[in-house]
Amino acid sequence: MTKKVAMFIDGESIISESNQWLDVTDPASQEAICQVPMATEAEMERAIASAKKAFETWKDVPVTKRARMMLQYQHLLKKHHDELAEILAEETGKNFEDAKGDVWRGIEVAEHAANMPSMMMGETVENVANKVDTYSLIQPLGVCAGITPFNFPAMIPLWMFPMAVVCGNTFVLKPSEQDPNTPMRLAELFYEAGFPRDVLQVVHGGKDQVNQILNHDDIEAISFVGSVPVGEHIYKTGTDNLKRVQAFAGAKNHMVVMPDANKNQVINNIAGSACGAAGQRCMAISVAVLVGETKDWIPQIKEKMAEMKPGHWKNPESFYGPLISPQAKARVEALIAQGEKEGATLELDGRGLEVEGFPNGNWLGPSLFTNVTTDMEIYKTEIFGPVLCIMTADTLEEAIELINNNPYGNGTSLFTSSGAAARKFQHDIKVGQVGINIPIPVPLPFFSFTGWKVGWTCAPSATSTC
Ligand code: NAD
Repeated sequence: MTKKVAMFIDGESIISESNQWLDVTDPASQEAICQVPMATEAEMERAIASAKKAFETWKDVPVTKRARMMLQYQHLLKKHHDELAEILAEETGKNFEDAKGDVWRGIEVAEHAANMPSMMMGETVENVANKVDTYSLIQPLGVCAGITPFNFPAMIPLWMFPMAVVCGNTFVLKPSEQDPNTPMRLAELFYEAGFPRDVLQVVHGGKDQVNQILNHDDIEAISFVGSVPVGEHIYKTGTDNLKRVQAFAGAKNHMVVMPDANKNQVINNIAGSACGAAGQRCMAISVAVLVGETKDWIPQIKEKMAEMKPGHWKNPESFYGPLISPQAKARVEALIAQGEKEGATLELDGRGLEVEGFPNGNWLGPSLFTNVTTDMEIYKTEIFGPVLCIMTADTLEEAIELINNNPYGNGTSLFTSSGAAARKFQHDIKVGQVGINIPIPVPLPFFSFTGWKVGWTCAPSATSTC
């Protein structure tokens, strides 16, 4: 019988009484891994009530003690790094290096969270009026909730609950229903590190369970990471209910290439950042803007992309894994078909690719379009697959204008050897995270992750510095 995933509610590991269960399958084979429940209303209520009760005592635990538990958690995460990466690779299909990277980026957050005492220092001004001093305190809010996507099942939950909990909040985590085993193991290690079990509750579900969180009076703040439509819904409903909400959503990231850039570096970085993790990264490069004569580099870019072979996570030769589900694969394939129909040139077609030994995997080979225009669906929509659109521009100014007119603003990068071009780009571009000669400018946890425009909305919360 297929394993049923538990939930961690009110200090207990429980098997849901729900009559709605989803299958979680290995994306490389479609074999069943487990079943995940859509928590019942009563189970959700119990989790939130337990987190609320836990807050009354947790907020008074000295911050130094909370930070020491976080140090222990960081130690356990490092000790179980490979084990976590294996669980993650099995349920996402990511290659082992990417899976380890996903876990590692989360470990860095736990490390950062262990520094919380100094980050919680307030401010004081002496003698603001005659013999009157004023000070401000940083205090926890109460019950916070996190709703996370499938594509980083270790890093993104770890962006959220360690920071919230170490500040003295309690937390309800609703991870992606597509890969629940990684966050469950993260929670087990969290309890093992000494955190009281009711400080972190883990529930499973989808739309209905998220709506219960959004409309619940006892939830003070919400962190969301996922797609644009869901992010908008969460931001609007959460803030309508006067909650603090941060919502990080989808992306369309452009890489601009100047003629003075290092050609080999550009070609390697374009191919790697477009295909890595099967393009299922909010910071993936999905549009390359070739300025001036760099349009002549297209044959080499195509050749390099064709070398990026997908495969099973246990095979060290696999550059990337399958897409998360047959539905995700069908969606990306439909977008490729639409790109062709709309007149773009499909230079590389990844459809129909087979991986030996895994005939049922959600494989898609690297795909490359040229002659892409801004009115095409492949340009307007986040594809979330190993698909690159190449566009051209005559000048840096033209490239900047193109990007600034795009509704997304998560990340972007420029490849150049000119300091002046780099300065102009980073100053004029209306995108939140900018890389110069770095394709994927993801910040370390002591900086905010801060996209702009569609895909990033924020009302200050207890779990971020935005
Ligand atoms: P998704 O929006 O489908 O799901 C995210 C979460 O929302 C899941 O927990 C899911 O259960 C829940 N959800 C789904 N539909 C819902 C609904 N109608 N109402 C309420 N909740 C709902 O996203 P996904 O496919 O899991 O993840 C991929 C997306 O996440 C991409 O768009 C990607 O760009 C984005 N992402 C963004 C960042 C970032 O930091 N900006 C990072 C990683 C991923």
